[in-house]
Amino acid sequence: MKIQCANHGCPHTAHALTVKMGLPGHGEKQGDLWFCSRRCYKNFLADQMIADKRSGLEKTVRRVKLGLLLVKNNLINHEQLTTALAEKMGSLKKLGHILVDSGQLTEKELKAALSMQAGIAPINLDPHTKIKLKEEIPFKLVDEFHFVLFEFDEEDKTLIIALHNMDYIPVLEDYFATLYPGFLIKFYLEDEKKIISVIAANYPNETLSLPIEETLSRPGEGVGKDMEKAVLKVVEFLNHFTGSHVKIDSLDNAVWLKGETDDLKVDVYLSKKG
Ligand SMILES: [Zn+2]
Repeated sequence: MKIQCANHGCPHTAHALTVKMGLPGHGEKQGDLWFCSRRCYKNFLADQMIADKRSGLEKTVRRVKLGLLLVKNNLINHEQLTTALAEKMGSLKKLGHILVDSGQLTEKELKAALSMQAGIAPINLDPHTKIKLKEEIPFKLVDEFHFVLFEFDEEDKTLIIALHNMDYIPVLEDYFATLYPGFLIKFYLEDEKKIISVIAANYPNETLSLPIEETLSRPGEGVGKDMEKAVLKVVEFLNHFTGSHVKIDSLDNAVWLKGETDDLKVDVYLSKKG
């Protein structure tokens, strides 16, 4: 009897008997699943983490609202918060970025507040940071969570990650604890833009999926702020329809949304009239 590699899309099979006997060179068994290679096992784990993230599991982390934290620390007043929250409605921008863009908060203050909110220390990544374990981490995981693994100490069994969203900590912790049992996994907070630029420098041949906000606000491209609402609505619909993460590109005069179902490829172009 043959069994198939549990990594989605991998065609490799093996005889059940050789797997059962755990013969060398016959991949790995994890519970009831068999993987033809360590690489396939990692890809399988990455797919699971990505599915968890998209199904909203990460939202179970509770925290103080950023706006209230800013008011409490006298960084902004109630009036500024109300105005910023009104602007946030129907916009793709995050509250912190609205306040920074309007000059009511500095980048530094925002980062300090976010790290207070997250309960993890902020860090300033060097733009030339080399990503560790590059060959070990599937790119799709890096692209989905936008994190940088910048320190890996085999002797001290420590692994240090910079990320921009504390909601991802449980999922990433899970992934690395499974692959590196006994390692201490530490997290630091860094701005998503800086993380993305480090990732881009480390993976010059890969196309990174940028946050929607980022894609729409790239200077000289796209169709501008007035289309944000429409784009957001269509992205919501497509995410619902395809059950997955829609990718977005801004073209000269249009926005291009790309999604997939099991048997369909979905491309939607939104452009301005005239
Ligand atoms: Zn495989």
